[in-house]
Amino acid sequence: MITKQKGTYDVYGIDAKKRKYVCDVIDAICEKYNYTYMETPVFEASELFHRSVGESSDIVRKETYDFKDRGERSITLRPEGTAGIVRSFIENKMYGNMTEPVKVYYIEPMFRYERPQSGRSRQFTQFGFEFIGSDDAISDAEVISLAYNTYKLLGIDVKVQLNTLGDKESRDNYREALIKYFEPNIDKLCEDCKERLHKNPLRILDCKIDSESDILKNAPKTIDYLNVDSKNRFLKLQEYLDLMDISYEINTNLVRGLDYYNHTVFEIVGNIPEFGSQNVLGGGGRYNGLIEMLDGPSMPAVGFAMGLDRTILAMEKLGVNFNIKDNIDVYIMYGNEEEKETATYLLQDLRLNGFIAETDYMNRQFKNQFKSADRFNSKYLIILKNDDLKDFKVTVKDNTTKEEELVNINDLVDYLDMKL
Ligand code: AMP
Repeated sequence: MITKQKGTYDVYGIDAKKRKYVCDVIDAICEKYNYTYMETPVFEASELFHRSVGESSDIVRKETYDFKDRGERSITLRPEGTAGIVRSFIENKMYGNMTEPVKVYYIEPMFRYERPQSGRSRQFTQFGFEFIGSDDAISDAEVISLAYNTYKLLGIDVKVQLNTLGDKESRDNYREALIKYFEPNIDKLCEDCKERLHKNPLRILDCKIDSESDILKNAPKTIDYLNVDSKNRFLKLQEYLDLMDISYEINTNLVRGLDYYNHTVFEIVGNIPEFGSQNVLGGGGRYNGLIEMLDGPSMPAVGFAMGLDRTILAMEKLGVNFNIKDNIDVYIMYGNEEEKETATYLLQDLRLNGFIAETDYMNRQFKNQFKSADRFNSKYLIILKNDDLKDFKVTVKDNTTKEEELVNINDLVDYLDMKL
């Protein structure tokens, strides 16, 4: 028997319905915020992620699925969504002519070669959105508000953890301060952190291995290295969030793993005891330098991504109602070929008139058709009998009260409309 690959899963039955519900909520809220749906390919040139996510990132160093295709091209299965969107934004020239800001969202599978565990897999789905074209703090506030309100609509109580890395000058000053601080203590940190010291010392603060170390906890804080402009921008963002009534807390240790962030960084954190560090349901931030770094125009942008799987798991743990429809409107029953022909026609008619309609496809006995209708929780049964059909009548049975009525076949749609 061929089995699924490690770190992957199938989605079917009730789980598929839950996922569909979450996606529907996302679609609806994105529509309100005026973000349009977008898809990019599952695989891209490896160079895209090496340049955007960064050579020194854990994702690129240890987690990407890289392979050569039959034409010897270096291909990578996308580990995150922003790089592909930005590549497409540049390639399709989505800028200029008053097209900005470009506001898009995606719900797509991502691939990372990670150690599979609950809430962490090798193929997982992310919902993410990008707001390209504005450097104003109001766009950061909007992205945080969209993330926050999505969780709220899904019934998950979350906190926004917020920080700023400042502009380039502030970030460079901070970087220097970190190198100076970590250098004398570097032997006490993990091998990865040693490598990060000169390449990207901000990443040390993100380290999963050393996260509990006092050395990390007492490290210099971004907030103390901000220049005046960056400080004011951060205050303005907080003012906008206050106006939107979004509760947040400032976490000066928050830096986020990817190379391309500047100014705002934030994470959305749940409160599920058994989740531990996996309570980080999603994260995002501003990436003003990325579009230019990928040979596009110099253009500011901000975005967010959350794990769909982890979000669904959180909803399950919290006992949230997924609003799953678990019944159908009508089940059509028949006993012979002539009645089956009427069933075929009625099925089509009812479905086109908006009813969820089902019938038997296996030529089962009536007794088993009743069982089948119950399995689908059908609200009504339509029982076709030649004797009734001669008078253009069908029997409609309320499957809850078990009451039956003879209805003229031409009045069936109106009758069901009234009842359902
Ligand atoms: P990141 O792109 O690493 O900032 O991750 C954003 C969100 O995606 C996380 O908060 C998780 O909810 C989710 N996520 C990241 N990696 C995985 C994974 N391997 N399996 C499941 N969800 C993940």
